[in-house]
Amino acid sequence: MKTIGLLGGMSWESTSLYYHQINEHVKAALGGLHSAKIALYSVDFAEIERLQHQGLWQETADILAKAAQAVEAAGADFLVICTNTMHKVAPEISQQIGIPVLHIADATAMALQNAGVTRVGLLGTRFTMEQDFYTSRLVEHGIDVLVPQDADRERVHQVIYQELCQGRIDPASRQDYVRIIESLAEQGAQAVILGCTEITMLVSQTDTTVPLYDTTAIHAAKAAERALEICEPTN
Ligand code: GLU
Repeated sequence: MKTIGLLGGMSWESTSLYYHQINEHVKAALGGLHSAKIALYSVDFAEIERLQHQGLWQETADILAKAAQAVEAAGADFLVICTNTMHKVAPEISQQIGIPVLHIADATAMALQNAGVTRVGLLGTRFTMEQDFYTSRLVEHGIDVLVPQDADRERVHQVIYQELCQGRIDPASRQDYVRIIESLAEQGAQAVILGCTEITMLVSQTDTTVPLYDTTAIHAAKAAERALEICEPTN
């Protein structure tokens, strides 16, 4: 079994889901006392969030590249960056390490392709919904992306930082998310990507008939498969 490198803490709420789900996959595959080999570096999200909102992305890349080097030095065979947003600096991180990055948008695109989805809605931070580092990666895989209108993007963004990353679950926010998901479907999205690793704490498939793609679950499953060498490396 390969050792999975996790670059986490963004936020720790979702990193704990990765840790749990990866171990559940390994247990299901190997049984008994088996568990995943993981090297985890968890950052202080307050520092990262401040730099994000100041637009200081190179500074975030410097912090995350150092953390990724520590994960590599701890014996990781590949790196999993446990957040959609910080894949903005995945190329800069990748340049500083000798192990491959298992990209969250590639894993998600593969799941969509397997289901025949070609037009998808995307929920995430404003950075993920509005900048092109994420959407262009999906487009490269032949998937068209719809994002909510401006006021709804702001609502989705605020809930992520003010509530979910702080472990708060508010039913009023869930209602808003479901309304936004359904409006994306009305505009032609065949499915919606939960493109922030905390959204799965708020919304689940039981809340809507629109097919949801949970990036945390998809990324964690792909990491476990790769560690168990039951899937081909994508890079
Ligand atoms: N975990 C979130 C994501 O998947 C947001 C936190 C962050 O900005 O990294 O995008």
